Amino acid sequence: MAGHMPPEEFRRHGHEIVDWIADYLARVDTLPVLPEGKPGDILAVLPDRAPEQPEDFSVLMADLDRVVVPGLVGWQHPGFFAYFPGNISPPAVLAEMVTASLGQQGMMWSTSPAATEVEMRVLDWLVDLLGLPQAWKMAGPGGGVIQVSASDATHTALAVARYRAQEEAALDDLVAYTSSQAHSSIEKGARVAGFRHLRSIEVDYQFAMRSDALERAINDDRKAGLTPAFVCSSVGTTGTTAVDPVRRIGELARKDGLWHHVDAAFAGSAMICPEFRHHQDGLELVDSYVFNPHKWLLTNFDCSVFYVADRQPLLKALSILPPYLRGSASDGAVVVDYRDWHVPLGRRFRSLKLWWVLRSYGAEGLRQLIRTHVSLAQSLAARISDHPRLELVAPVPFSLVCFRHSDGNEATISLAEAINRSGHSYVTPSSINEMSFIRVSIGQTKTDQRHIDRLWELVVANA
Ligand SMILES: *Cc1c(COP(=O)(O)O)cnc(C)c1O
Repeated sequence: MAGHMPPEEFRRHGHEIVDWIADYLARVDTLPVLPEGKPGDILAVLPDRAPEQPEDFSVLMADLDRVVVPGLVGWQHPGFFAYFPGNISPPAVLAEMVTASLGQQGMMWSTSPAATEVEMRVLDWLVDLLGLPQAWKMAGPGGGVIQVSASDATHTALAVARYRAQEEAALDDLVAYTSSQAHSSIEKGARVAGFRHLRSIEVDYQFAMRSDALERAINDDRKAGLTPAFVCSSVGTTGTTAVDPVRRIGELARKDGLWHHVDAAFAGSAMICPEFRHHQDGLELVDSYVFNPHKWLLTNFDCSVFYVADRQPLLKALSILPPYLRGSASDGAVVVDYRDWHVPLGRRFRSLKLWWVLRSYGAEGLRQLIRTHVSLAQSLAARISDHPRLELVAPVPFSLVCFRHSDGNEATISLAEAINRSGHSYVTPSSINEMSFIRVSIGQTKTDQRHIDRLWELVVANA
């Protein structure tokens, strides 16, 4: 008989854990944003064998502070300006506890009507909140599904595009296109989906895809006897949040029968504010779309939203029905079985946290968060422009500021190192075409003007 935790003890430890979480979040800004240890430090304090005898839960909890905290990167630290944010919020964390406790497997409507229908409704809400095409709603030909990550969603889009194109062309002849600034998940997804040809299309001076170069590449491939099958536009590249001309790319895709996918992993959250939606003009010419509430919409990882304009090609590519997965409701095709919307079968009740975030903050609360971050970024960008030894390297359409030291790469890299040594601010050094620059990505739940000022003092002192 296993030594299950008695219900009363579970209740007590549960309260202790919530206290511990609340304390961690309250003091995260007093911890170093980057851990100080070296590789192997944590391994060294972990026993090399699992315990034979049960350990007391209080010992497990003590190891959170002893073993885990010293090895944490401050993803929830308000001075975290690296990569893109992975912000969280109290309602999302509480929902995650409930999701774990309910232990639902939402692979089919019949295995969890609640997980299925809450997800359907919440993703329909987002269509309106983000100004996406109405056809993407569940009542339309399209629909939305929550996936683990943008990489999974993009991989799915590539797999569907390949499946569809293969009806008329040989797999070896299919070609996928994206810009030279697109995220690495497109190349990875293309490889996994079996594309042999992926063209990296050149970008303009603002790092957006050149649609004339795309058109040329498509024509050249056609002439060479190949079959253009997929193109990915980025709305907010990872490097500099550049925005590709979605409408123009969509027109080319329609004309040539390519599957058009949009990767808005980070910037998609901004579309809850109408003033950013001109960046996604042309979405009615898009076949699939992904954005990550787990980056900038207070919904802890993992929660990536994938939409298709027409669900039939997706279901055709991914639906497989062995006898043990038949259910009378599914057979009648009157319900949504989300197992057919992505590669995995089992799936968590992820919509619960998104539902609770949307209801706890309200659309207005989320707009306020996005606008705060964008205005912090704009004011930082203005300070950089005015500084004699610093220069912006790209426009700032959202909340990512990219800049460099005017003395060049070496000065830029040492500036980034000085910032990251501070313990309270963390930025990512990056480069495009041999030009080094510093990315300051503003999007933490609690980042405010004070944290930007502290970063700015460091920048000025080290520039
Ligand atoms: C972060 C990012 C991704 C990858 O997101 P995951 O959810 O971690 O897979 C893809 N594309 C862009 C533009 C991104 O910024």
